[in-house]
Amino acid sequence: MMSLSVLSLPQRYKRLLQAMTLAVAVVYMTLLLYQSAYGYPNFQLQPQPLSSSSQLLDGNEPAAITTTQQLQQQQQHQQQQQQLQHSLPPTTQTASSFASSAASPITPSLIIRKDIHSFNFSDIEVSERPTATLLTELARRSRNGELLHDLSQRAVTATPQPPTTELDDIFISVKTTKNYHDTRLALIIKTWFQLARDQTWFFTDTDDHYYQEKTKGHLINTKCSQGHFRKALCCKMSAELDIFLESGKKWFCHFDDDNYVNVPRLVKLLDEYSPSVDWYLGKPSISSPLEIHLDNKNTTTNKKITFWFATGGAGFCLSRALTLKMLPIAGGGKFISIGDKIRFPDDVTMGFIIEHLLKVPLTVVDNFHSHLEPMEFIRSDTFQDQVSFSYAHMKNQWNVIKVDGFDLKTDPKRFYSLHCQLFPYFSFCPPR
Ligand code: UDP
Ligand code: MN
Repeated sequence: MMSLSVLSLPQRYKRLLQAMTLAVAVVYMTLLLYQSAYGYPNFQLQPQPLSSSSQLLDGNEPAAITTTQQLQQQQQHQQQQQQLQHSLPPTTQTASSFASSAASPITPSLIIRKDIHSFNFSDIEVSERPTATLLTELARRSRNGELLHDLSQRAVTATPQPPTTELDDIFISVKTTKNYHDTRLALIIKTWFQLARDQTWFFTDTDDHYYQEKTKGHLINTKCSQGHFRKALCCKMSAELDIFLESGKKWFCHFDDDNYVNVPRLVKLLDEYSPSVDWYLGKPSISSPLEIHLDNKNTTTNKKITFWFATGGAGFCLSRALTLKMLPIAGGGKFISIGDKIRFPDDVTMGFIIEHLLKVPLTVVDNFHSHLEPMEFIRSDTFQDQVSFSYAHMKNQWNVIKVDGFDLKTDPKRFYSLHCQLFPYFSFCPPR
């Protein structure tokens, strides 16, 4: 029994040894399989150009490469890489170095495939895409198409922010005449002109050193004839338009010398519109469009046309875009010729050019006011919101706004009182 057990001991060891060898072999095989699938951790990867990677994708290359082959391949790759680094533009370099860094010379095919699948080279290399099939090309194009479509949709549906308008974007022109310098011009200079000294210009018909100095050179002698007749008025309007066009400002706003302009409100109004769109903003003084008959030189018949116009006595504004369209037909003094042709005053001529010739409709802004409407009906709690006011003395009666402030003798036109309501910090306003 004893001898049996002694004899059987080496036999047992032999079996154990066999089992252990088998286990080691299984572990070794498993390790080999694992390495061939995932490679060695922290292995120094050799650079490999994109073209070689593409070849390996064919699947013709053997998974195991001999040591000599490895060395040859490594040398070849190093040479190719040096050449690439000297000849390719930076973007191509980036793309190819990304591809090559993933390639191991020992287990190339699987690793390269894995990385190729996770990285789309066609996104970077548009010009060099030898492996791109027609389908991937179409897919790429349709993706771009979708992107473009999406962008264009956004451009259409997004609410465009109107450009911000500042006081300095506005050219304010005031029509005046020699006889009104002391009575009307002086009142403007003391009140609202102080809020837009650099933007306001007075178009008159004489030299006047006193007011030239008061306005710091903002008095323009148009050399147009004095008098309240059509030709003289159209001559001034023509000068206003031409000087605005030269100014490069975004908005042209015309007022008469019996207007009070609420400067901040004017800026706020224009801020709601784009100067690069055709805008004719103002207020008509008649309840239906003006009907005029144009002479037809070729026939004896008259042509009847209708159009709206913004009354000049309330003030109106034109966007630069619109005035640029007017330039070829009404710029450089041609405004006067058109006025001569239709034989109507300056504001009617303006409406004729804009509404009839250019087909740009008048946009009615109720916040402009001329003395053709009863001023007393403008509620004092809405003064802040009005763009312009006016006054007139007719048949021994004043058509003026109803406003608290200075007495009627001191302020018959009510502009000082209005100014103090809107801007109470002015020097002549009573302390509150
Ligand atoms: N005006 C002018 N020359 C004149 C008379 C008036 O340039 O001989 C100007 C005046 O300065 C004002 C506009 O024309 O800006 C309108 O004048 P007014 O208010 O006297 O008349 P309305 O047409 O308003 O009745
Ligand atoms: Mn007037």
